[in-house]
Parts: sequence; structure tokens; C-alpha cells
Amino acid sequence: MARTGLDGEYPNIVEKLNHTDDDKYLTLKELLCSRSFVFFFGVHILALAVFFVRFQWSFLHLALASYCVRMLAITAGYHRYFSHRAFRTSRIFQFALACLGCSACQKGVLWWASWHRHHHRYADTEQDVHSPYFGGFWWSHMGWFLFSDRHVAIQWHLIPDLAVYKELLWLEEHHYLPGIILAIVSYVMGGFGGFIWIFCLSTVILWHATFTVNSLCHLYGYQNFLCEYHESCNAKNNILLAILTLGEGWHNNHHSFMGSSKQGFEWWEIDLCYYFIRIMSSLGLIDSFRVPSSEQIELRRLRSQTRSELSTSVSDH
Ligand SMILES: [Zn+2]
Ligand SMILES: [Zn+2]
Repeated sequence: MARTGLDGEYPNIVEKLNHTDDDKYLTLKELLCSRSFVFFFGVHILALAVFFVRFQWSFLHLALASYCVRMLAITAGYHRYFSHRAFRTSRIFQFALACLGCSACQKGVLWWASWHRHHHRYADTEQDVHSPYFGGFWWSHMGWFLFSDRHVAIQWHLIPDLAVYKELLWLEEHHYLPGIILAIVSYVMGGFGGFIWIFCLSTVILWHATFTVNSLCHLYGYQNFLCEYHESCNAKNNILLAILTLGEGWHNNHHSFMGSSKQGFEWWEIDLCYYFIRIMSSLGLIDSFRVPSSEQIELRRLRSQTRSELSTSVSDH
């Protein structure tokens, strides 16, 4: 069923599931009527008001806190927990993580996790939804969800373990609520300036930092491992992006050990999200977080080296 964006209405989740539009890109008219695009573009414009409101150190500190808390909710929650089940937690804390993740305004957790699992299944192949090698940098960064209708539908078949929770299904339909609440709280705390710094600017930086994992982390950096799931996978480790995303920049490690709570394996591969997971564990909020042993990591590194040497000697002959 075609999207009904022309009259300003968005289809419900079932309609999204049945969406069969063959066009890759939205028309300009459809784009301008897309609530997602208008919201995304609007928050960017509002963030520019940071140059016109009176600066206060408290705005900067609160914007940083808003960024870090929501980035951790995305990395530890949306990514490592919901997408990869890297640890276990109670149903209540699971819902709290989902709500906090929703405040990052990156759509609902079921949509996010389903497409992320899809990415791991087809990493850097033609089926990958956001490979920079098939579509270019901007497509992988934000074009795949902004300018196309193909990726609106949740991939239900990839998240059967998550779709059983009624509260997550409810939150999926109301995923915009935590973001609205954060915007209101920002305004109450600091007036218009607080809204611009704590919500708008922080959200824009948070968006692009998260998107770099799909774009830049598949282009620039070093590799500890050759991916054992897809020969084509070009995920890289990138220290700058690891700092910016609080640990997600060790993307080559992650593609080799998807279920691991820890993504930085060397002493210099600082993974703040993993420290956060350890803190949550010591507080009793989560348990059974998965981490590969040093033997497993070393074994896979040796296998990668052997594969690399083999492919070099084959190409030399
Ligand atoms: Zn990836
Ligand atoms: Zn992942």
C-alpha cells in the first residue's frame, strides 16, 4: 500500500508493513509532506539559533549531559541490548532503556533493532540498507531512512524476541513521546535558550554521531579482524568515532563479535559504553553481559591473519 504522505497522514504500523512502493526515492512533494523529514530538517534549523541566544555555561553542561545520557541509551540500549542481546535485564529496566533511547528521536526501538539486525545480516553487500559502498556516503549516513520509503516498515521477522512485549509495541506507536517530553523539560529548565541547547543542538549532534557508525565506520579506520560472516564487510575501528559515540567506533571488533557487551579489545580501545554496562551490572540493573575471552579474540585474530595471507598469496599467483 502506498504511503499516504500527500495528505499529511502517515500509515499505521500495519500499513507500513505492507508497503510495496518500488520507487527508491521520495518525490520532492512527498519529502516535504513527510513528518520525519520536516521534523529532522526543523530541528537542524532550530539548532542554528544557538548563535542567537545568550550563552550560559549551564546550557553547555546540560546539553552535554543530554547528549551523553541519550548516546548511552542508544549504544547500550538500542544497539547492544535490543539489537544484539549482549546482556540481560528486567522487563522494567528494558522498558526504561527503550524510553530513554526514544528520547534520542531515532524512531522506535523495534524499527531501529530490526534494521540494525538486517544490516549485520547483509553488511556491505547489495542488500545492506546503509552501505556506503552501495549508495555512497550520504545514502549510508541518512539518505536510507530520510529520502526513501523502502525502510519505513519494521522488519518483524528479524525481531520475534522483541515483538512479544506489549509495552514495546505500545512505545513503538508512540515513540515520539519521550522526545517531546525532553523538549518540554528543556524549555522549562532554561526557557528558549535551554530548549535550543539541551534539546535541539544536542539532538542534532547525537543524530550525526550515531549515523557516522553506518557511514564513516565502514570507510575509515583500521581492522583487527576480517569479518567471518561477510567477506565484503568493511567495518573499521576508528578512535575519533569511538570517542564521539562513547564506544561504538570499534566497529570492526563489533562486526566480528556482535553479541559482545564490550567492543574495545585493546587497552587503547576505550569503550565508555562498556564501563556504563559494568556500572549497571554492579548496581544489579543488568546481568549476564557477554564478553569474549582473550583466547577467543586471539584465535579469531589469527584466523584473520591466515585468511589475509592466503588471499595475498593467491592474488600474487
Ligand atoms: Zn556496520
Ligand atoms: Zn550491531
